[in-house]
Amino acid sequence: MEASRRRSQHGANGANGANGANGANGANGANGANGKGSGQEEQPAQWGRAWEVDWFSLCSVVGLLCFAPFIVFYFVMACDQYQCSVSQPLVELLRGETTLLSIWARAPSFTWTAAKIYAVWVGFQLFLYMCVPDVSHKFIPGYVGGVQDGARTPAGLINKYEINGLQCWLITHALWYANAQHFLWFSPTIIFDNWIPLMWCANILGYAVASFAFAKAYLFPSNSDDCKFTGNIFYNYMMGIEFNPRVGKWFDFKLFFNGRPGIVAWTLINLSYMAKQQELYGHVTNSMVLVNVLQAVYVLDFFWNEAWYLKTIDICHDHFGWYLGWGDCVWLPYLYTLQGLYLVYHPVQLSSGHALAVLLLGLVGYYIFRSANHQKDLFRRTEGSCSIWGRKPAHIECSYRSADGGVHRSKLMTSGFWGVARHLNYTGDLMGSLAYCAACGFGHVLPYFYVVYMTILLVHRCVRDEHRCGSKYGKDWKRYTDAVPYRLIPGVF
Ligand code: NDP
Repeated sequence: MEASRRRSQHGANGANGANGANGANGANGANGANGKGSGQEEQPAQWGRAWEVDWFSLCSVVGLLCFAPFIVFYFVMACDQYQCSVSQPLVELLRGETTLLSIWARAPSFTWTAAKIYAVWVGFQLFLYMCVPDVSHKFIPGYVGGVQDGARTPAGLINKYEINGLQCWLITHALWYANAQHFLWFSPTIIFDNWIPLMWCANILGYAVASFAFAKAYLFPSNSDDCKFTGNIFYNYMMGIEFNPRVGKWFDFKLFFNGRPGIVAWTLINLSYMAKQQELYGHVTNSMVLVNVLQAVYVLDFFWNEAWYLKTIDICHDHFGWYLGWGDCVWLPYLYTLQGLYLVYHPVQLSSGHALAVLLLGLVGYYIFRSANHQKDLFRRTEGSCSIWGRKPAHIECSYRSADGGVHRSKLMTSGFWGVARHLNYTGDLMGSLAYCAACGFGHVLPYFYVVYMTILLVHRCVRDEHRCGSKYGKDWKRYTDAVPYRLIPGVF
């Protein structure tokens, strides 16, 4: 085991450099980017997870493993028991008017009905993922589906993926619609009606899948050269050991859990909230329509660009552990949909001006997010032989050295959105996030959790990315940051 562990680490180091994804160690040595002597031994700057775990990281990891489910529970319980007030439960606890035990006792518990619904849901998504070959790319112009290559893994492997997410989403939603309009097998409010019991089921799956991935990494890893171990068991469990755990040739844990049960459910959950509003109040508010439409645009964008998504940081750099497994099963479906849940309890009807402002903010944010991502993708795919905003893109030529000593070339674009700020794709994403929250009016803070969380996530990601790129490109990265000095908001940050 130890020998294979050492082999794994060696393999990962070398190949990181070779594909340039994490080739920071070589670049540092070559360029002295961090101002350290070339003879000084360094750990490679890594995405996703570290090689060594300090005490602060360890405490955060243990804290999250123990308390993250209760953070999710707190928000959902606040809606269920306190009309979505996040402060009221705390106030009552502090005043001694309630206890943790009585809050817990009032919350709906696990039910077998919810377990059956959840099992059918995950089983159905699994069936679609595994058994429905993508044909939509043959009929939809511009859509890239079917079998696609992933990015090269740290060990130098290129995995194949069957990209059929758009088709799975369409089939699932067509069935939902057919049921609501015609078959009436179940009520469209079924998700809302079982929301907390379903949360316990999602938690069981989240922890089970993380535990399975953890054991699998030790017992039968898909590729031992792509495993990454630290000496800390909690950190390994949380951030994952295997890079791309698979069962068989096609079942890829990362793609399935990142891109199926949680994200396909996102739009259905919103539709269920909409149906509940209709049932409770006899009408659907414009705020609920806005949240449904704006978030559906975001979800559909994800599936339309699923092949592109294979090349983003989540798939290219993160290992699969509790962070992705539990996060995709619980955190995403429960906390990304808080706006719709809030609107069931507070059916806000926005003035036309407010609704229009939210729509504009959401659509402009989406436009910036999508265009910035598209510009970089086009630029990298064509190696700069393309047109961005009507002209050939300006760029900075960069080089980096990989761990095997090879020198590689790359380009950083300084045109289009990438010339305005270094991460305008994140800015667009944040504008969209703010729009979902602002659709809920200004009565409570709960629906604003999403934009606060996304700001922390993306600012942290931005800093991590810059650290990695600085290590990888050295003085060339400095030339880029001189040419494009701001990260997210020109003139501010
Ligand atoms: P990016 O798509 O921004 O990719 C960053 C990488 O692009 C860098 O590491 C570098 O890689 C390369 N790069 C940086 N600057 C340039 C440039 N000027 N020209 C060319 N290449 C450059 O990062 P993500 O994968 O994090 O984000 C993808 C999208 O996903 C974003 O729009 C983000 O908002 C969204 N997202 C959404 C989340 C959600 O939960 N809703 C979570 C996370 C992301 P290299 O080493 O190749 O040079």
